[in-house]
Amino acid sequence: MKYYILFGPPGAGKGTHAGAVAQKYNLKHISTGELLRAEIAAGTELGRQAKTLIDAGSLVPDSVVEGMIESAFDTIKGVDGFLLDGFPRNLAQARDLDAILEKRGESVTGVVSLMIEDETIRKRIAHRAAIEGRADDASEATINNRIQTYHAQTEPLIAFYKAAGKYHEADVNGWDIETNRARVLAVMEQIG
Ligand code: ADP
Repeated sequence: MKYYILFGPPGAGKGTHAGAVAQKYNLKHISTGELLRAEIAAGTELGRQAKTLIDAGSLVPDSVVEGMIESAFDTIKGVDGFLLDGFPRNLAQARDLDAILEKRGESVTGVVSLMIEDETIRKRIAHRAAIEGRADDASEATINNRIQTYHAQTEPLIAFYKAAGKYHEADVNGWDIETNRARVLAVMEQIG
């Protein structure tokens, strides 16, 4: 099985490109953000707890997202691998993912990192807020905290995966979705 990580700051376009990548390589796309929003929509206790944190622009506890990831690995069949979107998001999650995969005799195949600048992040999220109506895209304070959380907790994963020789970048600063998608797919080819 292949285990790809689609990495990048909020608003980089992980969700926008994941579908095409997953289809081309017969991967199951797993977005921890989408799974959490489904829990909120279903009105579960987990969703209720997650909503407070998501609306504040903070991360939900590692154990929550790791449980979701492990259960997806256990139950989803008929694919050649997984495309992880929004996970891991801090060093503890990255280390735990390695341990989860090691137990299964597997390892991370490669990281596709979507590179955009903070100013572009703000514009993309403002654009998406108008289309998708996500509560965590609507408030300036939440967006600021998500960008801060990204730099403080998620960005250190770049060095972690570089050290593992698994890190690859795609520049997606431009607004042309097709160009960006082609860059993402080119990186997938490079990883193999
Ligand atoms: P984006 O990357 O655009 O911010 P996501 O849908 O990936 O959107 O995530 C939305 C929110 O869900 C995050 O701000 C965070 O609160 C929560 N979340 C998603 N994935 C994780 C994760 N791996 N660990 C902790 N919290 C997460």
